[in-house]
Amino acid sequence: MKIAAERRKKAEGEKILRGIGVSSGIAIGPAFVIEQGGIPVPEYTLSAGQVEKEVKRFQGAVQKTQKQLGLLKAKAEALPAGADEDVGLLLEAYKGMVSSSRLLRGVEETISEAKLNAEAAVQRQIGVIAAGFASMEDEYLAARADDVREVGARLIRNLLQQKYNPFESAPPSSIFLAEEITPADTALMDPSRVAGFAAVLGGAEGHAAIMARAIGIPALLGVTELIGGVSTGETVIIDGFAGKIILRPTPETLQAYKAQLVKQARETKKLKGLRTMPAVTLDGTLVTVEANLELPRDIDSVLEAGATGVGLLRTEFNFMNRPDLPSEDEQFEVLRDLVKKMEGRPLTVRTLDVGGEKIASALGETLGESINPALGLRAIRLGLRETKLLDAQLGAILRAAAYGPVRILIPMVSSVEQMKQVRERLVAIEKRLQRRGIKVPSALPPLGAMIEIPAAALAADAFSRVCTFFAIGSNDLTQYTLAIDRGDDRVANLYNPYHPAVLRLIELTIAAAWRANIPVSLCGEMAGDPRATALLLGLGLREFSIAPSRLPKIKNEIRSIDLPQAIAFAQEVLKLTDEVAIRALLERGPESMQEAAAARKK
Ligand code: PEP
Ligand code: MG
Repeated sequence: MKIAAERRKKAEGEKILRGIGVSSGIAIGPAFVIEQGGIPVPEYTLSAGQVEKEVKRFQGAVQKTQKQLGLLKAKAEALPAGADEDVGLLLEAYKGMVSSSRLLRGVEETISEAKLNAEAAVQRQIGVIAAGFASMEDEYLAARADDVREVGARLIRNLLQQKYNPFESAPPSSIFLAEEITPADTALMDPSRVAGFAAVLGGAEGHAAIMARAIGIPALLGVTELIGGVSTGETVIIDGFAGKIILRPTPETLQAYKAQLVKQARETKKLKGLRTMPAVTLDGTLVTVEANLELPRDIDSVLEAGATGVGLLRTEFNFMNRPDLPSEDEQFEVLRDLVKKMEGRPLTVRTLDVGGEKIASALGETLGESINPALGLRAIRLGLRETKLLDAQLGAILRAAAYGPVRILIPMVSSVEQMKQVRERLVAIEKRLQRRGIKVPSALPPLGAMIEIPAAALAADAFSRVCTFFAIGSNDLTQYTLAIDRGDDRVANLYNPYHPAVLRLIELTIAAAWRANIPVSLCGEMAGDPRATALLLGLGLREFSIAPSRLPKIKNEIRSIDLPQAIAFAQEVLKLTDEVAIRALLERGPESMQEAAAARKK
């Protein structure tokens, strides 16, 4: 980002950049560019025994920095001719600086000889190198001092593994522009300061995208050309519907988008009127519409949206942006407050699902490095290995369940044995709590599995014997069925929850749940897509769990659907094997079948 801002000589006129519109809506506001660096650097003395570990920590940060720069360089190739070369060369130069022996040797010597921590050692060595460049007479070489500092700031940021919070200092209703926005960043966002955001990296179904939809702010990811330059304060428009960001809009463009904003507000108001209406189809079938909850602070929006419960509470929030792990007591208090707020509506608490793209800093070493993080130590696999972590969570959930209806949901289950193990632990924890005289519910809460690994969907009948309910995770089910990283914008075009293979697995899961007579919901992003509503109802789904911002729209959709027609429609969709044809039919909706039949009769 910095690269670009520096290289852009002066602001040109209106410019449109394309990206993946991951959260719909329009936002207009001043740009707030999140630069690397700007972080206070800690300085402390090491003991002789700490030196070796500190050098290793520094080497790890160097590797991470190299990887980031490589990723950005690959992205820069997609920039328009000229810019691609400029930015590419600069990033190559940065890579060279990070691995220069002068920097590496200098820092390692400072750590071992001056016994200085790695961040301070980098700062010191960067200062020396930058001063050398700055004193050069050649203007071009003198300007390289800034580049060296930029590289140093990036290294320090990677060493600290903790970002400064840029979201606190931005003016209200800013549009955040960054190289990358992580799920942890979105958890820090104060909705009053964030009108929208856009980033160079990231795919449509990564958690940053999900969080944006949850908060209901327009967002764009994979905007390669953002490397091409925006300055803080410039007016920008995010069009999350069309997947574009408009820099320095002309008065005409601004006018047109302001009119769209007014329309958007009118539509939202109209949908709010549905809050107390039941989600019932035209033929009178009642559908359960619950909400996904990412952060406790959003509980009010769940209730305002008219959700009949929380179908998915992602508990990762409890583990983000902190250096330590939450205790059982701390987790219990957060959950108990949520249960109370729900006033008798069920709260489905999913146990920790870190790993893959969702990282908790306190678990960094436990998770370790993995060649395929999405296939590695993640979610319940981590819980059953680090049982203290899982037990603390199960204990907290059980205790909270004494205050109102709670369901326990286990992520990333691939074997029946895992569910049996969790149930055994739950029973043991219940006994332990009872022995200590701690209040627990009279019966164990329902225990369900996320069906999000193809193996679990294919073996859904077996899982139905060890689960009280199912929740289909269409995001991961798509990722694992198609082998497409859901957070990678370079393969985002291949990520398709409407692929016939994914639909088949959803059909299998719902059918198995019906056979076993257990509830099944769908809480992936597909549940919030109105194009999928008739299909899912037609496949037998009667429970949806959706981002609160999307809930009214889906309720509205459900109220316009005739179930027998949706069942026939789902059968038509399942007959198709061509992804493009499936999308086209979903786009046209079930009414199109009636129209086609009427046309045939004529
Ligand atoms: C899913 O995978 O569909 C899901 C709901 O879980 P998450 O997005 O948190 O992985
Ligand atoms: Mg998942």
